[in-house]
Amino acid sequence: MTETIFAADVAALDAADPLAPFRERFQLREGLIYLDGNSLGALPKMTGDRLAEVIDTEWGEGLITSWLGAEWSTAPRRIGDKIGRLLGAKPGEIVAADSTSVNIFKALTAALSLRHERPVILSEASNFPTDVYMMQGIEAFSGGRVKAVTVAPDAVLDALNDDVAVLLLTQVHYKSGRVRDMAAITRAAHDAGALVVWDLSHSAGAIPVDLNGANADFAIGCGYKFLNGGPGAPAYLFAASRHHAATPVLSGWFGHARPFAFEEDYDPAAGIERFQCGTPPMLGLSALEVGVDLMLEADMAEIRRKSLALGDLFIEHMQPLCDTYGFKLASVRDHAERGSQVAYAHPQGYQIVQALKEFDVIADFRAPDILRFGLTPLYLSYRDILETVERLETVCATRAWDKPQYHRRAAVT
Ligand SMILES: *Cc1c(COP(=O)(O)O)cnc(C)c1O
Repeated sequence: MTETIFAADVAALDAADPLAPFRERFQLREGLIYLDGNSLGALPKMTGDRLAEVIDTEWGEGLITSWLGAEWSTAPRRIGDKIGRLLGAKPGEIVAADSTSVNIFKALTAALSLRHERPVILSEASNFPTDVYMMQGIEAFSGGRVKAVTVAPDAVLDALNDDVAVLLLTQVHYKSGRVRDMAAITRAAHDAGALVVWDLSHSAGAIPVDLNGANADFAIGCGYKFLNGGPGAPAYLFAASRHHAATPVLSGWFGHARPFAFEEDYDPAAGIERFQCGTPPMLGLSALEVGVDLMLEADMAEIRRKSLALGDLFIEHMQPLCDTYGFKLASVRDHAERGSQVAYAHPQGYQIVQALKEFDVIADFRAPDILRFGLTPLYLSYRDILETVERLETVCATRAWDKPQYHRRAAVT
């Protein structure tokens, strides 16, 4: 197949792409190829207008009356319900609040409260660090009653025993992009008497998720990755309705049944509201809602189909670079087990990712040697994928990565 015919094929794919019009809805500089939407989603063009409205009208003019007048007080639940439509949750099972890390704490302690007699929080050792750190903090605080246990990724199911209160797993692995079978693992954990907390940070907005179809207990995830909610956007927490009696350990007043009764004793709200803690951050929530609304306009099955097609195209065209320059595919090819990113291992991974920025390609690096390429079907084209491989080839062929400034690690990678 000649180069030109191939470029024409890709042009045809782009021309027939039902998601192509979404790119216009994001503020992305011409020429830039952004492959880091799995770390910080791009800016929806409507976010600025919406924030200006919240600031000037709702805050500036409405002042405190906006808690009711602009429906601020119900925003965490309203936005949670919208996220729930992406995740197979029922209305009233998700609240948008706090950070992912804080929600990991809330979900783990709620699950522990439902399995008091069992001491272990189990996870995989290579889980996203904050997930494991939160487990370790709970262990330290518990004075030895709770044990944080991590095992090798493939040893998780074998480690389920009578001591395990809760299993904490990330559905799509942050480095490899490998997808876990949520329904099968949840079933195995339930058979062992344990509950599961699913981290959906790399799932929501990236792959179809069916929490209730998988009989999930708790889930949490980020608002700023595929949901395009903005830097540090509020996260979300799912609790299956059967677990709404779980005790919230972060027993803040916004989780109280009657926050504005200012009662002396904590009495948690009946539903998902009990998993709120303090006053909702309205600027962050408003930006998150724009991102979620935009995602809801797209068909998730179509997003998944295109994400896999972009990944296949990328993997195919990377093969010559693997042979010549030593990249090693660190993601699975199999569609059932591949999330919305493709990762490669390379000893000079850090330098290559830095050098790619000179060529207007933003990807990211995860220590020790992983280059991550996030695939966001709402604002990437098939042409972008071919361009990326071409620019990557230039970086390798010219050794553009071999500059002194790229050998010093920055604080954020
Ligand atoms: C991005 C990510 C987080 C981030 O947690 P924050 O509290 O938002 O910083 C947590 N877990 C996983 C699996 C992630 O990918």
